[in-house]
Amino acid sequence: MKIKRRYFLGLAGLVGAGGLLSLKGCDGFSDRYTEAEAQALIAQKAREQELSGSGPFGPQRYQGYRGLADLPWYEVNEEGRLVMVDDSVPAAIDVHAHLGMAMLFAPELDLQVRTPRVEYMLDCDATDPGCPLDLDVYINANFSEAALRRLQLLTVSQLFWGGGAAATHTIPNLLAEMDDCRIEKAQILPIAWDLPFGDELTAGWMREIDKAQARSRLLIGGSVVPGDPEAPEQLRAQAAAGVSMIKLHPTMQRFYPDDAMMAPIYEACGELGLPIIFHGGRAGIEPEMTHKYALMRHYEGAIRDFPKVQFVMGHAGARDVDDVIPLAQKYDNLWLGIHGQGVTKLDQLIREVGGDRLLYGTDWPFYHLAATQAKVLLVTQDRPDVRYAILRGNAERLFGL
Ligand SMILES: [Zn+2]
Repeated sequence: MKIKRRYFLGLAGLVGAGGLLSLKGCDGFSDRYTEAEAQALIAQKAREQELSGSGPFGPQRYQGYRGLADLPWYEVNEEGRLVMVDDSVPAAIDVHAHLGMAMLFAPELDLQVRTPRVEYMLDCDATDPGCPLDLDVYINANFSEAALRRLQLLTVSQLFWGGGAAATHTIPNLLAEMDDCRIEKAQILPIAWDLPFGDELTAGWMREIDKAQARSRLLIGGSVVPGDPEAPEQLRAQAAAGVSMIKLHPTMQRFYPDDAMMAPIYEACGELGLPIIFHGGRAGIEPEMTHKYALMRHYEGAIRDFPKVQFVMGHAGARDVDDVIPLAQKYDNLWLGIHGQGVTKLDQLIREVGGDRLLYGTDWPFYHLAATQAKVLLVTQDRPDVRYAILRGNAERLFGL
């Protein structure tokens, strides 16, 4: 029997992801989260807005995902779909994607259907012209207030009534978009929420991927509940079933990555050769009370003490990106998923960390697969080796493909 002592935390984390349980203000500052750190996030957001468009790539603003057709690598085809038209672009491996979620009371989704279009969590193509999409800021800065409210509602609907946008986050829809954009493989990442029921994303998504006979395109991911004494055993079972990476989410699962209770999980992943992708850093749109879990300094102990584990920092630390750079310079077992970072930051990461531990990731279905791909193409116009490494070569090395 799985221990459910933390299931309310799981539920709170999930609903809180949509902001509904967001407690305004902080539940007190401490050594784990100082007032200066809270201020630094506010300052980062303001500075980024101010500097947008003034970096080495100039203004990079488009009208929706379809607007990326203004770039030389894409066109909108006769069906109105954004497609990659440059055969020289390496076929990519996306290390960070998800499928539609239906948990708790929500009726099961049919992940095998093809729908006319994907309703992204940031649905920049829902209107014509599309919403403003700035590639020179952290990507969630493109959410308007209305789009953020929609995101909250979508999150709650995945728990209760289901349907809606999540019903378009299906395997055939993902595969079609991968074909459009020359994405060869995508790593699907579940999260173990620790809900009282309706919480089996790892097994459920694996079943659906097998049903679609899509294992050659979709890499199966796993997850465990932090601190669950059965986690090491579950990790062994997941590895045996073909899982290629484990997702852990400090803000949604509410844990400090350097908490001693995590050691058995890291040990097991080290033995099994399973890389761990952390949701990394403060995204800035989650409940403030969860920010304390995601500071870069709380990840260092895990990376330092478990050198056998290959850790991937999702979103390259999101809005805490400046604090991940010294960590990546210091630890060879730390890779950076670049999803979310703007073009100026991506250029800085290449210069300061090097191109050989940066990984292309999309966070589909939050965003279109091309949103991050376009940034890589812009930043690597004169760096073909780095382009290949980020889009494909590094992921092949990480997964041993
Ligand atoms: Zn994600």
